[in-house]
Amino acid sequence: MTTALALYSGGLDSTLACRVIMEQNIRVLAVKFISPFFGADLLQYPEQYRQMVRRKYGIEVILRDLTEPYLQMLAAPAHGYGKNFNPCVDCKIMLMGEARRMLAEVGAEFLISGEVLGQRPMSQRRDTLRVIERDSGCADLLLRPLCARNLPPTKPEREGLVDREKLYDFKGRSRTPQMQLAARFGIDDYESPGGGCVLTDPNLAERIRGHYAETAAEGRPVRAEDILLLLSGRIFKLPGGSILALGRTEAGNQRVLSRRIHGDWLLQLRDHPGPQAVLRPPAGSLPNGETERQINAEKAAAAPLAADLQRAVALVLRYAGKAVRQQGRAVVELCRDREEPVMALETAPARDEEFIPWRR
Ligand code: SF4
Repeated sequence: MTTALALYSGGLDSTLACRVIMEQNIRVLAVKFISPFFGADLLQYPEQYRQMVRRKYGIEVILRDLTEPYLQMLAAPAHGYGKNFNPCVDCKIMLMGEARRMLAEVGAEFLISGEVLGQRPMSQRRDTLRVIERDSGCADLLLRPLCARNLPPTKPEREGLVDREKLYDFKGRSRTPQMQLAARFGIDDYESPGGGCVLTDPNLAERIRGHYAETAAEGRPVRAEDILLLLSGRIFKLPGGSILALGRTEAGNQRVLSRRIHGDWLLQLRDHPGPQAVLRPPAGSLPNGETERQINAEKAAAAPLAADLQRAVALVLRYAGKAVRQQGRAVVELCRDREEPVMALETAPARDEEFIPWRR
């Protein structure tokens, strides 16, 4: 049986592309690529995601994590950035190149994607589609079922593996043809276009751009775990070099907690409800202390971190409830890798003019 490998974002277009080809009795295996900027949470429950896609759309999907090469590419994409910090052309070249290398592994003859000619300004112009095919080594192997009839026939069409007459000629920014096709397939529930890529979100993209600039200036590599923390809540970069993440909601608190790594500090109000906070010292700044005595020694040896902890405590209080603000002071407990608090600090909430420069 002929098999196609689909580049799958979870959005409507890639879902439709799979279904159009499956309708021709071709087996489709979909691959959803993961980076810290799209799909990262799925790595926590890959099997549930696979089952959900199978149940909702009848599509078999696998996840493939491209975090490390993606982080490197984002520092200097050969084709530049879009409106925000989105390197769409290089992103697609990377994803398609990786999919091409997977063809033999999964026993597929060709690739499909959900791109539509002219739908997005940067990456879906005709000349850009050609560049993406060429630079990813996918020319002639990549079929775009939703707009194939606007493009020259690809190898699987010429060889008769795919019936070109049953493909589509969608073009431009209108979503109406996709909506109509979705209705024909009975699909009414799907992710937003772009698959939730945070690099197109102006605020988050700016935060990530700033982090790349800061780490480059300091001669440090960008770490995936720092990016994930930076995308997890209300973020501050403190003067001592630490990153502070505060949850905004209950779900946000859980997200911030899930981003903790070895060496992070967890801050919680002792007597009141309030945001969960994770403070990450600058990479490589301290050994890991296990006892209160060791931690105190670290504090003495690391004035910038001690000052950042004080600032973080004041920020937790600033974003706590009204009772704390009225009371004027409160106690925050600090935990390290173990859950028991290793110290408690009492202070007043941070003043707005003080912390605004730290906000990201
Ligand atoms: S929106 Fe994000 S995931 Fe989509 S092509 Fe652009 S950079 Fe890649």
